Amino acid sequence: MERADVLVVGAGPAGTTVAAGLAARGHDVLVVEEHGRVGHPVQCAGLVSQRVLDLAGSQSMVLDAVAGASVFGPSLGSVSFTAEGPRAFVIDRAGLDVLLADKAARSGARFATGVRFDRVVASRSGPIVAHLTDTEGRSREIEAKVVVGADGVASAVARAFRLRRPVEVLPAFEAEIPRSPGDARQVEVYLGNEISPGLFGWWIPDGSGGARVGVAASAGPVTARAYYDRLIRQVERRFRTTLPGPTAMLVSGIPIGTLPKTSTDRAILVGDAAAQVKPLSGGGIFTGMRCATIAVDVLDRALRAGDLSAAALADYDRAWQAELGEEFRQALFLRRLFVRLSDADLDRLIEALQGSDLKASIVAFGDIDFPTHVARKLLRQSPSLLRLFPKAVSAWLGGGPPVAPDLEPGPRRSAQ
Ligand SMILES: Cc1cc2nc3c(=O)[nH]c(=O)nc-3n(C[C@H](O)[C@H](O)[C@H](O)COP(=O)(O)OP(=O)(O)OC[C@H]3O[C@@H](n4cnc5c(N)ncnc54)[C@H](O)[C@@H]3O)c2cc1C
Repeated sequence: MERADVLVVGAGPAGTTVAAGLAARGHDVLVVEEHGRVGHPVQCAGLVSQRVLDLAGSQSMVLDAVAGASVFGPSLGSVSFTAEGPRAFVIDRAGLDVLLADKAARSGARFATGVRFDRVVASRSGPIVAHLTDTEGRSREIEAKVVVGADGVASAVARAFRLRRPVEVLPAFEAEIPRSPGDARQVEVYLGNEISPGLFGWWIPDGSGGARVGVAASAGPVTARAYYDRLIRQVERRFRTTLPGPTAMLVSGIPIGTLPKTSTDRAILVGDAAAQVKPLSGGGIFTGMRCATIAVDVLDRALRAGDLSAAALADYDRAWQAELGEEFRQALFLRRLFVRLSDADLDRLIEALQGSDLKASIVAFGDIDFPTHVARKLLRQSPSLLRLFPKAVSAWLGGGPPVAPDLEPGPRRSAQ
């Protein structure tokens, strides 16, 4: 039977980061990817921070730099923030995946594309035997000391190892528009319960005159595609023009809410499979790659010690939670407040943010990877913002616990 020390399932940025790190430390790593080509199909808007470029160790996939953002309320009132230098980067997302896969392969990781992980065949106390199927329907089995589930939001590895799934998956729809009437250095964000209840719509210049336009919203009777159509009508109103039809479209999901456990005996989850995604934006490239680098340290130690038990691998949960857990918890708390805002509240939010002091704070302190820092600052700074939210926020601002009883659980207010 084929063997590897580590079976990594999924060649997205989280999986290839783990593969590169462990292969570089001398472990025998096999990456299986169900698609025939790494990076395809692209399921991402590709807006990242400098931290992603640093983790990737390259700028080669950068298509453009973005210096600011405009946020539109449901009535199209807006607030714009522009910094002096780049605050985020639009990347060739397939290019990032290929770059990271190349790095892993150069470090010695083996790749099998067009090969899907299906299930675990035997999971006694010894090594894992995994059942794989290729695109021609041929099956094979592989024995591995440990399995890394980097297989995205619908993780088969999580299911196979009975690890809990995220409480919420936001359906998302994105399209590429070949010609953008917008400012090529500004990202646009569209809020509104008719367009994207639970998150927002986005308009991201693609660095070549077009834009990536998409929406993610709480699951419900309206499909992500229907929300997208509404977003396009809203964007057309904003630009007072008819947009050209899309050249490419994608449908996917964004996991929200951290998992109670991302490791067990002989298995860990990373990236979207572990719901390591920023709850206020749905972005997961930085957080997934960062947690993947943490996983490398823990797995390297565990492999060397020959102890891949749940107790040993729980160090991974502890380590990534210590770094990102608090930000995720606070962001989830803020998200719970955000989803309750009516359209009238969202318009008032935009109005409140128009104050120059608040805008200056956002420009100075805004960080797409750690948005709760600036949120806390803004709420402290502005009584009119604070009035939009329940008392729970005061406790949060005072350093109290991020979850208050009046937020658990409750219906989202409808548009009004
Ligand atoms: C519409 C949309 C826009 C987004 N925009 C941004 C953004 O602008 N910035 C940002 O930071 N994040 C964004 N995200 C989130 C980001 O795309 C993910 O967080 C990121 O891709 C997670 O990386 P990953 O490696 O964990 O998983 P993925 O990138 O999803 O990779 C998982 C891989 O596993 C493979 N796979 C799945 N199942 C199996 C199996 N059983 N066997 C073998 N292979 C398997 C898949 O084919 C895939 O290649 C967006 C998400 C969506 C849906």
